Amino acid sequence: MRQTAERLAEDGVVGLIVAWADNNGIPRSRTIPIEQVPLAAERGVGVSPLFAVFDTHDGITYGPPGLSTPSGDVRLVPVAERIVRLAGQPGFAWAPGRQMNADGSCWPYDQRGVLERQVEAAARAGLEFRAGYELEFRLSREDGPLAVAGPSYSPRLMLEVDGFAAQVMGDLRANGVEIGQLHAEYGPAQFELNIAPADPVTAADLQLLTRQTVHAAARAHGLRACFAPLTDGARVGNGWHLHTSVTRDGVNLLSGGDGPHGLTADGAAYLAGLLRDLPSIAAITAPSVASLLRLRPGFFSSAYAFWGVENREAALRFVPSTDLLGAAHANVELKPSDASANPYLSLAVVIAAGLAGIADGLVPPPPVQEDPGPWTDERRAAAGIHRLPATFEEQHAALNGGLARAVLGEELFGAFTVVRAADHAWAQGRPVDEVIAAHLWRY
Ligand code: GLU
Ligand code: MG
Repeated sequence: MRQTAERLAEDGVVGLIVAWADNNGIPRSRTIPIEQVPLAAERGVGVSPLFAVFDTHDGITYGPPGLSTPSGDVRLVPVAERIVRLAGQPGFAWAPGRQMNADGSCWPYDQRGVLERQVEAAARAGLEFRAGYELEFRLSREDGPLAVAGPSYSPRLMLEVDGFAAQVMGDLRANGVEIGQLHAEYGPAQFELNIAPADPVTAADLQLLTRQTVHAAARAHGLRACFAPLTDGARVGNGWHLHTSVTRDGVNLLSGGDGPHGLTADGAAYLAGLLRDLPSIAAITAPSVASLLRLRPGFFSSAYAFWGVENREAALRFVPSTDLLGAAHANVELKPSDASANPYLSLAVVIAAGLAGIADGLVPPPPVQEDPGPWTDERRAAAGIHRLPATFEEQHAALNGGLARAVLGEELFGAFTVVRAADHAWAQGRPVDEVIAAHLWRY
């Protein structure tokens, strides 16, 4: 660690940004002088425990036991093996942080620790997961207007943000983030980049690092990147779809089986496990007031709990392998997922639901290949298709009725639900446009 810090200092790095994501998916950070990094890697730096109960609008929601007063201290410890010099902010290096008790044990509100526990549970079952995020975002000029106008997916739009696009691709590579592609998306001035799959904790770390990298590249070119779940109530939102696959002994369980579309029995059970707990999962992976506004039928964001093969309206889109693409390609895409989710908690609940599905030997219903949005309520009910939670009350019930409590643990679950209630209270009675606007620059 001392050598890493010295090398960075020699290269002109003056500080280490230690970042974590709070219960609103909002990155928070501390910056440590580079010469103090070796000590901080051992002891951490002090932060307030109250970050666990910050709401989306920086309101501090005193409440749960242990978080009801301004007193207390948590140690924020940089994850040493993840330190990377930021190509877009050459004076700084970056690392994700662990939140620890003063005795060095994992603080129960540490979201990264929650995911580590699920990865360990998977390993005990002989399973490994791979995960990758797609990030959609809207680019605007620093002075306000959208950065580009023109046809969706157009290379001309890419030309208009050429400097940004070149910098973000180069900086991501330099920062150790491999991406699959970058393109102009469907919405006005909307873009998307896909992060290559990795193990779950790495995938969540890289999602945070990618945000910082995109913001820096945008700023260098007079632009602002908006990651909010919804930027305009009438248009498509920004989905941060989460792709996962599960392997045993290196073999992808979502491919090469005798089941439909190449699913193995365990692969099908994984999918069925996600489907069973989808309302509860979505309350973690698309948790904000803006998330609920984004999940509308007909916007490819998903509104109903069902799965389909390559169905872009499905909350769970199964992407099968083919001879051309190979077994590793098969994965499940979770659509109700966005920037307001904590990526560690998202992956933790997805893994837990999938493991439970496999343990219970669940069998999924047949896939749905249509958009059930225009169907009658009766037809959807007959097909077992339900609306994902669309109100705070439905979300609250799903959270309390599902697996999230056990996965997050009693303390963190308490903080998470208190924060959701605070966000809901904030939004009550405000016009939708004001609610959308208040989320635009939070992520
Ligand atoms: N923008 C859509 C969403 O809100 C996703 C579009 C797509 O399928 O890429 O999730
Ligand atoms: Mg997309």
